[in-house]
Amino acid sequence: MSQLLPQTSAHELPASAGHLPTHAAAPGSRTTGSLLTGDSADDYADLLHDVVDTIAARFRTVDAPSNGPDRARLEDLVDAVDLDGSGIGNRAALAEADELYAANAVWFHHPSYLAHLNCPVVLPAVAAEAMLAAVNTSVDTFDQSLVGTLMEQRLVRWTTEQVGFEDGDGVFTSGGTQSNLQALFLARERALREDSRPRPEALASLRVLTTEASHFSVARSALLLGLDTDAVIAVDSDAEGRMDPEDLRARLADLADEGDLPMAVAVTAGTTDRGIIDPLARIAEVCEEAGVWLHVDAAYGGGLLVSERRRHLLAGIELADSVTVDFHKTFFQPVSSSAILVREPAHLRAAAWHADYLNPAAEAASQEAEPNQVDKSLQTTRRFDALKLWTTLRSLGAQRLGEMVDAVCDLATEVRGLLEADRDFTVLGSSDLSTVLFRFQPGDVDDATADSHVALIRRILFQSGRAMVARTTIDGTPWLKLTLLNPETTVMDVAAVLDLVRATGRGLLAGSRLATEGSAR
Ligand SMILES: *Cc1c(COP(=O)(O)O)cnc(C)c1O
Repeated sequence: MSQLLPQTSAHELPASAGHLPTHAAAPGSRTTGSLLTGDSADDYADLLHDVVDTIAARFRTVDAPSNGPDRARLEDLVDAVDLDGSGIGNRAALAEADELYAANAVWFHHPSYLAHLNCPVVLPAVAAEAMLAAVNTSVDTFDQSLVGTLMEQRLVRWTTEQVGFEDGDGVFTSGGTQSNLQALFLARERALREDSRPRPEALASLRVLTTEASHFSVARSALLLGLDTDAVIAVDSDAEGRMDPEDLRARLADLADEGDLPMAVAVTAGTTDRGIIDPLARIAEVCEEAGVWLHVDAAYGGGLLVSERRRHLLAGIELADSVTVDFHKTFFQPVSSSAILVREPAHLRAAAWHADYLNPAAEAASQEAEPNQVDKSLQTTRRFDALKLWTTLRSLGAQRLGEMVDAVCDLATEVRGLLEADRDFTVLGSSDLSTVLFRFQPGDVDDATADSHVALIRRILFQSGRAMVARTTIDGTPWLKLTLLNPETTVMDVAAVLDLVRATGRGLLAGSRLATEGSAR
């Protein structure tokens, strides 16, 4: 049991447990473990209000991205909770969750959180999340979802219009990983359909062309789709990781000579590490000539679709066969919210499967067929995540979202300038989006020392909980990485974190000098 909430009956719980009153339910009353029904609607409203008050209080008082990752302490807290005992009631369970989970969570809205591609979330989407969870719509079949299906379809159309597809289609997914898998699955099915060889033989000859910088889900999808272990080919890229269209052309010619079949070219609009956008229009031209499926992974860069100032960076995306967009990255949506979009609606049909209890094949062919989204999805039961984007567009408007994306890209440019002007740091290249790669390396510090300090600096900051930065390795060299996704974070906020990095780096240098002197003596 948690230290915070000793195992007691609910009425003995300490009053310190957030805002949640901790009165016990009378034995046999509906409030303990009750279903959300008409009878419990008042309890639902009370409980949710209290939970919201509790989390709002956290947001008001959180003063660091985390408390620090003392894993032994967290393991003790988690292990101490009795999952086999009798229930402690709604309020006590939620108060306990607040003390266990919320009190020890990572806070992505905090201006010193600069690490990964997980964003702070917009209010209308958070509220919509509560709405869709309560109703529990599943958007797999029309008869479980009704208007929800139509709203999702409308948003898919809206997104394909932003992409520039004339008559596209698509479906919401759980994330970019799933979107990429589905895109490559559709590409595989098209390639196999067009090949006259027996399926296993054709499958063994399929190749996916991508770059070193593409997301790992591309290579893993190839594995899941039964492709050969050497099916993924890394096309040459420029110094920042952009695919070289001429090398792509040469590789496609080589494949034709060898009798291998290019299944897809998978490019990235916003690489995870550097926010680099492959030259979409030029690559689309090469793919068109070769008749190869072009997949654009815009999981990160998708937000540029609504940016007035940066939409041009995605020029050519409308020529793709499939596009991944993660709304839970640059559209500031709560996890999960993503979509796979296709230019040619018929291509989605490769995913269609029919079950007599759900979407019988005989009905699917008829004019009055119900619009069952399960026909387009790899999932069956599926969240109505679309409601969050819907309320966001209605509340803020697309233009405002685009301005938020521009704000984080502008911030990255400013931060890069700050680092370039600072002799304590070196900065790697540029970004089309909002990442900054840098390291602490004053002039008198050699590469090996700077290399060894990257992971240490990240770890020390992480341990402190006061700031979070990420790290990565580019061409064998380790770098610290900032992923800026909070449009309210200021350059001063980031400068404060850079000062922490500097102080940590100096401390490490002083330590290693002492050690060197010690061993020299
Ligand atoms: C984040 C990311 C993904 C994976 O998306 P998830 O939503 O985390 O599954 C895929 N591609 C790129 C380029 C990404 O940045």
